[in-house]
Amino acid sequence: MKKLGELTKKPWFLAILVGVLGFVLLWNIPVEKRKYGFFQDGLATDYTGLLPKQIERVVESKSQEQLQEIVQKANQKGQHISVAGLQHSQGGHTYYEDGVVLDMRPVNEVLEINKEEKTVKVEAGATWEEVQEAVQPLGFALQVSQSQAIFTIGGSLSVNAHGRDIRFGPMASTVKEMTVLTPVGDVKKVTRADDEEWMRYVLGGYGLFGVILDVTLKLTDNEIYTIHTEELSAADYPKYFDRLLDDSKTAMHYARVSVAPSSFLEEMYVIDYRKTGEIDKQKSLKGEEGVRLSKIALDLGRQGGIFEDIFWSAQKKYIDSLDGDRITRNNAMRSESNFMEFTKPGRVEVLQEFFVPLDEYKTYLRELKQLLPSNDQKDDFQIHNITVRYAAEDQVTSLNYAQENMVGLVVLIQHGLQDEQIAEAESLIQDWTDLTLEHGGTYYLPYYRYQSREQFQAAYPNWKDFLEEKLERDPNEVFRNMFYDYYLKEGDDDE
Ligand SMILES: Cc1cc2nc3c(=O)[nH]c(=O)nc-3n(C[C@H](O)[C@H](O)[C@H](O)COP(=O)(O)OP(=O)(O)OC[C@H]3O[C@@H](n4cnc5c(N)ncnc54)[C@H](O)[C@@H]3O)c2cc1C
Repeated sequence: MKKLGELTKKPWFLAILVGVLGFVLLWNIPVEKRKYGFFQDGLATDYTGLLPKQIERVVESKSQEQLQEIVQKANQKGQHISVAGLQHSQGGHTYYEDGVVLDMRPVNEVLEINKEEKTVKVEAGATWEEVQEAVQPLGFALQVSQSQAIFTIGGSLSVNAHGRDIRFGPMASTVKEMTVLTPVGDVKKVTRADDEEWMRYVLGGYGLFGVILDVTLKLTDNEIYTIHTEELSAADYPKYFDRLLDDSKTAMHYARVSVAPSSFLEEMYVIDYRKTGEIDKQKSLKGEEGVRLSKIALDLGRQGGIFEDIFWSAQKKYIDSLDGDRITRNNAMRSESNFMEFTKPGRVEVLQEFFVPLDEYKTYLRELKQLLPSNDQKDDFQIHNITVRYAAEDQVTSLNYAQENMVGLVVLIQHGLQDEQIAEAESLIQDWTDLTLEHGGTYYLPYYRYQSREQFQAAYPNWKDFLEEKLERDPNEVFRNMFYDYYLKEGDDDE
């Protein structure tokens, strides 16, 4: 103690202390504040902080009546409203300049579980975790959710998310009915048989057609699976997956493709969840496990080059060790997310997702290999992970990324925040998108807007119908966000 007291009197020690504290502080400053300055009140942003904007205010949602009043007033007075869940979308989907943001998270009650019909009715601000906690004791599980359960129901349905299940298609197909607050302030009960087709536009509608108040989702059993893992060459994946689709015993599946220099886009491993015929009501839901170790491993991979090779080998060993393990469906749908957190001054990590038809996958990957450097250690634009998912054809939504059965490549990218670094990332991602379009593919819309309007229109040929319906149902453009203005509003005048 005495020694410490003496140390604190030494100027060099104090200098080191101040330096360390300064570094820790800097490390924890949100990315938008680092880029745009500290003192900006009323600045809204989302998961990456790439698109901060001044907004009028955030309103905490409390009740249907309160929301109805806000929407009716906005419709009369020409105000703009955006809807927000957890704000893990990355392209300004949840706010608009000088607009009002409805924070939906406080309306999060699980309202009713119907055991006979296997459905759950839940308010839209609830997270998937909250739904899992309610249905697990009854032996039920979700039909579709993202691999992590942290997101809100309203936010996930409004992007029509997909996950590891290979039998149900994207999330919109699991909605039985819902209650929507429309742009003119009416509350509507919407079913699949609805003549006005609200589901077609609200689901995957990016908050532009109204507020989802509550939703009734179809459930399935909380089956117990055995995990099967296997290493294979990327060229063999389409055949492997075709066989998997025919094997009704496999319920869920995902894969990873190597981004390590020595096996870049050539090696893969697959993880399948096979039915055991057993259903679980007893096991508890798992929490975040092994976060520190996963974070250390991911941070190692983030160094690139040889470290990425070491990371890939470690991942393969870890995945291999899972072979034969048993897991419940609910637990397979709540992977860890904390280890992914990334804060580094001057840099950002973003997601992008590209979808291609399964039979294009092999040539697509071969051509992608020509486009991307296999070793990006010294580059500003770095790819840290590619996960492969299946998205079965979606017949429900209008802005539809799975226009046929698709394989999705979920890509974790890191790049710098200087203007020229963002421009370089944009240019590379646009080339990647062009390649995807050439192969009959699409890309996912909840992420940052690197793609051009022309690329958006090519990937989503229904965009005109979407826009026409938007203006028909919301003539005063009450529901507005930055995604809408960038891709749809200004895309309106190209004829
Ligand atoms: C780490 C990470 C992992 C991811 N993994 C997956 C994955 O496995 N599969 C996948 O498909 N996607 C994945 N995503 C994308 C994610 O599903 C979407 O970003 C989703 O929108 C997140 O939900 P949220 O609650 O954060 O929504 P928000 O970002 O808050 O909102 C998304 C959109 O929904 C609208 N919205 C929100 N609530 C409502 C409501 N009640 N009524 C009407 N509109 C509303 C918003 O206006 C906005 O347009 C991932 C994203 C991240 C960051």
